[in-house]
Amino acid sequence: MFISDFRTRIILFSSIALWLVCIDLNASELHPDSKSMNSTNQLILTSEKTNFKETGNYAEIKRFCQNLELQYPSHVRCKVMGQTAEKRPIFYLITSKKNSLTPIQASKNKVPVIFVIAGTHAGEIDGKDASLLYLRELLENKSNNNPLNSLTVVWIPVFNVDGHEHPGKFKRPNQDGPFEQGDRTTARRINLNRDWILAQTPEMKGMLSLINLWDPAVTIDLHVTDGLRFRHDVSLTVSPEFGGSPALTATAKQLLNQSVSSLNQSGHHPLDLYPRLLDKEDPKAGFILDVDTPRNSHTYASVRNRIGILVEDHAWVSYIERVKTCRATLKVLLTSINSLSNDILRAERLADKESSSKSGSIFALDYEVDIPADQSKVKILDILGYKYETLDPAPIVGGRMIRYHLEETEVWRTPFFDDVQPIKGSEIKLPEYGYLIPLAWSDIVKQYLDMHGIIYRILKRNASDVSIQSIRLQPKDVIHESVSFQGRQMTYISGDWKTNTDSVQKGSIFVPINQPKSSLVAHLLEPKGPDSLSAWGLFNTSYEISDYLANHRAFELVRWMNEDQNKIKELFGEALYSQIPYFKSEYERRMLEEDKFRDDPQERLNFWISYLPEQDSTLNLYPIFRIQTDSLK
Ligand SMILES: [Zn+2]
Repeated sequence: MFISDFRTRIILFSSIALWLVCIDLNASELHPDSKSMNSTNQLILTSEKTNFKETGNYAEIKRFCQNLELQYPSHVRCKVMGQTAEKRPIFYLITSKKNSLTPIQASKNKVPVIFVIAGTHAGEIDGKDASLLYLRELLENKSNNNPLNSLTVVWIPVFNVDGHEHPGKFKRPNQDGPFEQGDRTTARRINLNRDWILAQTPEMKGMLSLINLWDPAVTIDLHVTDGLRFRHDVSLTVSPEFGGSPALTATAKQLLNQSVSSLNQSGHHPLDLYPRLLDKEDPKAGFILDVDTPRNSHTYASVRNRIGILVEDHAWVSYIERVKTCRATLKVLLTSINSLSNDILRAERLADKESSSKSGSIFALDYEVDIPADQSKVKILDILGYKYETLDPAPIVGGRMIRYHLEETEVWRTPFFDDVQPIKGSEIKLPEYGYLIPLAWSDIVKQYLDMHGIIYRILKRNASDVSIQSIRLQPKDVIHESVSFQGRQMTYISGDWKTNTDSVQKGSIFVPINQPKSSLVAHLLEPKGPDSLSAWGLFNTSYEISDYLANHRAFELVRWMNEDQNKIKELFGEALYSQIPYFKSEYERRMLEEDKFRDDPQERLNFWISYLPEQDSTLNLYPIFRIQTDSLK
């Protein structure tokens, strides 16, 4: 009852407050030069009508999208990029004032394409309202420095549409507004910002088709932080930050610095890093550079040799202020991208070229930040914080907690750990020629190659005695996570590539390493990659025992070998039979010299059985191979 009264009051107030709010958000630029009052009304958002206490439902996006195209037919296209799990269409808008509303036109006119994605986590919805307000303003704005004059911007106002349409009042407990918030995950409970590699949702499949269609030079993903209290109103991460092409990394850094400087000049307090803490209950213990894998949007963009930007508004700022900050951030980012667009396009072309000659080079699949024992040389950050204390034990329940004193500000002088290094064992030597996907696995792997726009070819004939590299694992080399992640059982394997020969079936797939997306190829197909298809559990049947040798049979085989029985010759042939004297002498040597061997009956049994032909030749064989020379047709 209270709630509905409250909401009615909001709506009553909102109709009065609408024009005031627009004035607050720079009214002179907000209202379109309307062709009809009716279509203008269709472009006024629920957030505006409610003084940013509420945000609109998805029907509003559809209406806004279609009306914007009607009102600005030369500059806007309203389209659908697919359906959600609950069969809702996902709308997006293409905008350009330079006659570049299709990928072909954008490419022909050499116009950089920028993606602005909001509502990936539907509860963090600032980006939706900020995008639409700013887009409306850009379309009305006739000035020469309008970014739409030289950029094509593709806007996805809500990516997680199903999550957006399941609003609730308590879904973002660490956030100040709006009144109701959407879900973090999709209707199938998948976090879209961990789904960029596996794309197991219809939403991400739609997004990847759009990415392949447009090949955006920059992707901007709009989020909200999750808890820490400080006075910075927005945090920016611009990838690649490490591990990518040096020229592209330098350009990304330049874009970050320029954007942060502009935001500072416009009265905001941006942070040029994601606020990840060494100790969540004590921010002064240190901030750590966030190192994300390609399952995240900004890192995914960087392994495609493009720039990915993660924007995080600060959760504890009011919704209206967050929308203002997000809009200001979009404005600064598009302006900075515009001013650096030649550098960005040049660096991306160079990165593509470098990636196309990576064969045989060393490549790191995963990174971590080194926290040195001696911290005297670590950088110091000045973070705009509040006075706080760490309570240990915390009252009532014990444990540790941070208590902020919001009435008193202070600057946290805190160490910043940013020494990013490849994780031990994650550096590999890329193949000289490429990867071979055997026919049996080709259907499974091909869908990922297609979704990610990777170049490959299907082999037209059988081949025998092909020199390949394969990974044969010991059981100890395979570690499965005990709980699922995104509904999958993550699996980590640690073997090395070894050369041998095998036959190759017609219909198998060859993926050359020398191609613009070689980093993405390595991330998908090198099993040690944190987001490889193997790590996501797609090849787990390769590591499962499906049959076994009964103990009584194993013991009999050992006895027959020890007694030089002809049964061994009959079963396994002359070659193996003739080696029995060697097995016996080796066994006796180990019994004399190795205490551990002597004391372990299982190991002694394994010794004998290991000389017999394998019963299951593909068990623990990583199902993808590598090719070192151009030997396949
Ligand atoms: Zn988020």
